[in-house]
Amino acid sequence: MSTPVRRQYLALKALHPDALLLFRMGDFYEAFDDDAGVLAETLGIALTSRPLGKAEGRIPMAGVPHHALERHLDQLVAAGHRVALAEQTGEADGRTLVERRVTRVVTPGTVEAGALLPAAGHNWLVAVAPGGADGAGAERWGLAACDVTTGELECMVVEAGVLGGELARRAPRELLVPEPAGARGGGEAALPEGAAETARRTPRPARAFAPGEAARALCEHYGVASLDGFGLRGMEAAVGAAGALLGYLAESWPQALRNLREPRVIASGAYVELDPQTVRTLELFESPAGPEAALIAVLDRTRTGPGGRLLRARLARPVRAAAEAERRLDEVAAWVGAPLERAALRRALRGLPDPERLLGRVRAGSAGPRQLAQLRAALGVLPEAGEQARAAGLLALAGDLAGAAEAHAALAAGLAEEPPAEAGDGASLRTGFAPDVDELRALAEDARGALTALEAAERERTGLGALKVGYHRVFGYYLELPRAQAERAPDEYEPRQTLAGAQRYRYGPLSELEDRILGAREELAGAERAALERLCAQVAASGAAIERAAAALARLDVAAGLAEVASEHGYVRPLLRPAGPIVIASGRHAVIERRMEPGAFVPNDCELGGAAPDIVVLTGPNMGGKSTYLRQTALIVVMAQAGSYVPAGRAEIGMVDRVFTRVGASDELAAGRSTFMREMVETAEILRRATERSLVVLDEVGRGTSTGDGLAIARAVVEALHHRPGGTPRTLFATHYRELTALAGLLPRVENRSVAVAERGGEVVFLHRIVDGAADRAYGVHVAALAGLPRAVVARARELLAQIETGEAREGGMAWGAPGAPAAPGGAAPAQLALPVAPPAAERALAETVAGLEPDELSPLEALQRLYELRAEARRGLGREG
Ligand code: ATP
Repeated sequence: MSTPVRRQYLALKALHPDALLLFRMGDFYEAFDDDAGVLAETLGIALTSRPLGKAEGRIPMAGVPHHALERHLDQLVAAGHRVALAEQTGEADGRTLVERRVTRVVTPGTVEAGALLPAAGHNWLVAVAPGGADGAGAERWGLAACDVTTGELECMVVEAGVLGGELARRAPRELLVPEPAGARGGGEAALPEGAAETARRTPRPARAFAPGEAARALCEHYGVASLDGFGLRGMEAAVGAAGALLGYLAESWPQALRNLREPRVIASGAYVELDPQTVRTLELFESPAGPEAALIAVLDRTRTGPGGRLLRARLARPVRAAAEAERRLDEVAAWVGAPLERAALRRALRGLPDPERLLGRVRAGSAGPRQLAQLRAALGVLPEAGEQARAAGLLALAGDLAGAAEAHAALAAGLAEEPPAEAGDGASLRTGFAPDVDELRALAEDARGALTALEAAERERTGLGALKVGYHRVFGYYLELPRAQAERAPDEYEPRQTLAGAQRYRYGPLSELEDRILGAREELAGAERAALERLCAQVAASGAAIERAAAALARLDVAAGLAEVASEHGYVRPLLRPAGPIVIASGRHAVIERRMEPGAFVPNDCELGGAAPDIVVLTGPNMGGKSTYLRQTALIVVMAQAGSYVPAGRAEIGMVDRVFTRVGASDELAAGRSTFMREMVETAEILRRATERSLVVLDEVGRGTSTGDGLAIARAVVEALHHRPGGTPRTLFATHYRELTALAGLLPRVENRSVAVAERGGEVVFLHRIVDGAADRAYGVHVAALAGLPRAVVARARELLAQIETGEAREGGMAWGAPGAPAAPGGAAPAQLALPVAPPAAERALAETVAGLEPDELSPLEALQRLYELRAEARRGLGREG
């Protein structure tokens, strides 16, 4: 590498010290020095070296061919690197140094294409900024999220407690966070609890989030005098976050800013709050059992990128307002009622390219002829989709689709039938679209004809029949003769290259022709690029109409997909009420029922609120189906409020404002996620946030500690929910603490339900049916036997259980100390096993005294005397003076 290039490289590298710099040199992107080692290792390619003059010796180098860049970028970004692309921005003339600039820094949040981009999901780049406390003292945060591929920009201000939930449902690929004041490079501001673990974080200087500066930058970008028109008034923290996004994009990929749409303000009060734990427990988007076991896998029958993204967004953000959910359900209902049209629509949408992302590339200037052809194909399907939508009665959506006709017409008129991947690799445009291109092409092709003519003429002139014209990448055009005829070559042929069997020559007239050909080709490529840019500009001018059409397409696609699921699996349209009880008849778990034989899943009813209890305490055997029942209820509510039909015979949903699901530590430990402390932090959050309109689902809460403590906590939690000022949240509480079933007798809005079990010929059969009343047994030992615990252990457990149940173990402790069974240390084991809590000492002493009385042997006076003594003892026990 000559020194000027080295200097150029080092200057660019100094501007991007934290990125892997890929330096375009001809057909390759090269990395040098330490970057070369990283590149070679990450991609598994050869590490070479390059001489750099005497002073510097050789430096390490590794490179990838330019046409393979996208694939390699995926690998590098997935491995956690930021990649800076230094492109040749000037013309290469072979004499002076080519100008190079870093045109883009590719990061996880700014990938534009390739395998890292989820086809059906968003690729969110999110920024968060602390917003101080509101009037009531609650800490608030601003959040701005942008998807550079679709140009969406969403802004919101949320309470610190729900920031984690917001991040969890977006699952950002990259999160911009402010460095704490005074920190320089690397430090990060503390995010609220639960908000931290979701994404790769990129710290940015705190000033990048400053609302004043951000507002100015946003106004300038959108060409407006004030942000109030976007609904951003009073949302300083969100404006600051949006400003940070804008600044980040301006640095890493300025062209992407052209694709940025106007900010959309998300009013957090409009959506059902789902915290990260709830999103995980309900397995909405991911499941430990694999991608197929998540709810989204069961519901997603969309056929397009915009449809897939919309469905995910709706599921992540069910609405609180019945009206909006009804509007969505109307669309599903339209397709349920039009199966033929639905099938025709879905056929038309199969394999449809993503119009939103393609428009994004057109706007960012990174769409080649191939992408334009894909956009044309996508837009070309819209009329057919519109026809089916009209037939199904969805006239407004059909109307929105029609808006993209102009852009389609432009592409159809301008673009060649099958254009090449890159401009200049063949004819990209239709004849007639750009007269200058047509002219130059004729010239270029004519020159090619001229080469053939020259060859024929020379053969004739020299009488050398084997003479032919050839082309070499370095030497250009030449004449070639077989070695045997070389001595017959005329003088004006200048020998150029000698091969084993042939001799090649330079020839004046041929060189002239070459200049003409290359000149015309270059001019043609330039003219073609310019014409393509004009075509892109035409398409971009219809951008808003394409956006609207893509949004309508997304809604049609989502509705048709949900209708498909509903029809295939017998879902019903939920009846939505602004408030009131949740009444589900024959509800099923959308995912679990699919993993069983058809009809094997046992449907169950659920009534919460209104005339029914607000709180249901659910007991029953292990493996009986408690968790399934709890989750299916929450899922049905989430699905209904997201605008989907639901797996039930009938469902009436009083709209909820928040859904909380918490699974006790003992269950969650398997997933390595939770500790008792964490469980309690989350339970505290539920008690703080749940309202009379919320749905609270608690599964085995309080299990991660000793029986006494756990039971006490569980009971206190139920009581707190029950006594909540303002109203009791609708609550399902599954527990193994049978003591809790006593609450039904004490608190008016609590009732017991249990999972039914049948015993047939000594065998226990789980019926998976929810019935009124409390369970009498846990069947844990039975499940242990089913699970294959050694027979001797099961037998011993049965024996011990029998003793506990008849009270023997509590009496003498004999059985616990018997040979072969180690004594329980400190009495902890019996306390865990003996379900009824032992009475305190005073009560016990009193009971002993009464048990020792022999009434037959007492005179009436003695009996009265004893009664006085007992009363005195009892009063002492209660702390009252006798
Ligand atoms: P544990 O107390 O041990 O946590 P559980 O009572 O919460 O158990 P689940 O995990 O809900 O039980 O269910 C256990 C299994 O029973 C499920 O994996 C499923 O296969 C089956 N099951 C649950 N509900 C039903 C149902 N309604 N119909 C058919 N099978 C069911």
